[in-house]
Amino acid sequence: MESASPLKMEISSNHQQVAILVSPEMGHLIPAVEFAKKLTIHTNLHVTLITQSTSSSLSMAEQSILDTLPEELNLVCLTAPSQLKNLPEGTLAINVIFLTIAYNLPLLRTILESLVCRNSRLALVVDLLGVEALDMATELGISSYLFYTSNCMSLSLSLHIPKLDAEFSGQYRDLPKPLELPGCLPLPGKDFPDPLPLRGTEGYAKCISLAKRYSEVKGIIVNSFDELEPGAVKALKENLGVPRIYPVGPVVQSGLAKAENGYECIKWLDEQPQGSVLYVSFGSGGTLTGAQIEELAWGLEMSGQRFLWVAKSPHEHEPSSALATAQSLKNNPAEFLPIEFMERTKGFGMVVSSWVPQMEVLSHASTAGFLTHCGWNSTLESIVNHVPLIAWPLYAEQKLNSVLLVEGLKIALGLVEDGDGLFRREEISRVIKCLMEGEERKKIREKMREVNEAATRAVGKSGSSSRSFMELVSEWMSY
Ligand code: UDP
Ligand code: UDP
Repeated sequence: MESASPLKMEISSNHQQVAILVSPEMGHLIPAVEFAKKLTIHTNLHVTLITQSTSSSLSMAEQSILDTLPEELNLVCLTAPSQLKNLPEGTLAINVIFLTIAYNLPLLRTILESLVCRNSRLALVVDLLGVEALDMATELGISSYLFYTSNCMSLSLSLHIPKLDAEFSGQYRDLPKPLELPGCLPLPGKDFPDPLPLRGTEGYAKCISLAKRYSEVKGIIVNSFDELEPGAVKALKENLGVPRIYPVGPVVQSGLAKAENGYECIKWLDEQPQGSVLYVSFGSGGTLTGAQIEELAWGLEMSGQRFLWVAKSPHEHEPSSALATAQSLKNNPAEFLPIEFMERTKGFGMVVSSWVPQMEVLSHASTAGFLTHCGWNSTLESIVNHVPLIAWPLYAEQKLNSVLLVEGLKIALGLVEDGDGLFRREEISRVIKCLMEGEERKKIREKMREVNEAATRAVGKSGSSSRSFMELVSEWMSY
């Protein structure tokens, strides 16, 4: 973000500080690391990044992301709190994350107190799961900000949901008509973030209690940009009851060490014709049922298109519970893919069972499409690499993202379910062919080009996101 550099000179005599608290999981870590890098490189703020993990050591993927941080940044990595050992087996992953954050609070207090002691003012940035730290920040006289790692439409829903909860007593799935949030696309109840449609569940109560706290912060930094969601951004900025909004996106992975021959999938991509490969991945946590994996495998094969598929072991429950086990599964695709699938598709497909360097895959000249779970980081990474999408949302706010991508921005093609809630092989194959070779391909690539250019402008000199970033930093510097 070149336009932010003048701030570095202007503010060089100050010692203002920002602490960024990151919730466990890659989807939170990656954008937080990038945001921390921007602050460290383009301003003279003293940045402390506090990461949290649910395991006792960092994974290779986490470590490689953290290795990209500049040396002058103060990094504090909190590994699994000891109390996690006492949790009953089968505790849902999302609950493990919430407990990790809660158990780390005393340690966080010590860290924040030591930073405050340095005779300078401090701003605390938390992400959408870290709002439990807000009371402590208030007690210590620290201003709090939210780093919302999704889009403005999702943020708008989060800010409205406490009111909706008070007004509407049924399940959101049964809302008589789609919800019309100011400046946003109409959102049918079935596409609300999981587990919101399930009133009465523990997850629902947690979502409401988190969302209630989002309006307590001084400002909300959003990983989106004005041109992507002009209506939603305008409405949020003009809504007086809402904290100040700073859309600073797209904030995506940068400066990753090139995966020097380490990754088979990159070598394989090197050997494929330019613009010929569909990348298929459901993010760091997403898994499919066995029946759905089988349909996807056949759909890929029937499409005849080249593909790179990150295939994870199936789960047998609803996709929303996939997070529970996804991380711990040992993958052996031969055990769960159709018999001889890998042999039959050897000439044009590659199946990977572990973490891939996604930014490198998406920026590779051979990659021409991305079948995605619509995680917001994946979406932004696709936008900056100009790769059109097929939307296959699973959980969290992914269905909402899919509405934005398919119906709003028209940079993704949607899939139609059959009566049993499955995407069938014929449908999968049809949509893949549309994206990769049909008339549709030209239209969607053109749309993606427009959005890609808007993203480049937003973070360029005097772009909307660069301006928001500078406003935010100026606010922090003026304490
Ligand atoms: N990612 C990756 N390799 C993988 C899977 C995921 O590099 O094999 C990265 C991806 O590039 C993105 C993040 O992990 O930055 C996933 O975030 P997203 O919001 O897309 O989905 P989540 O995993 O949170 O559901
Ligand atoms: N969530 C929410 N509002 C949102 C997005 C997510 O309340 O706008 C909830 C979501 O339903 C889930 C929890 O926050 O129960 C955790 O989301 P997750 O960690 O999956 O977010 P992600 O990693 O995709 O950013």
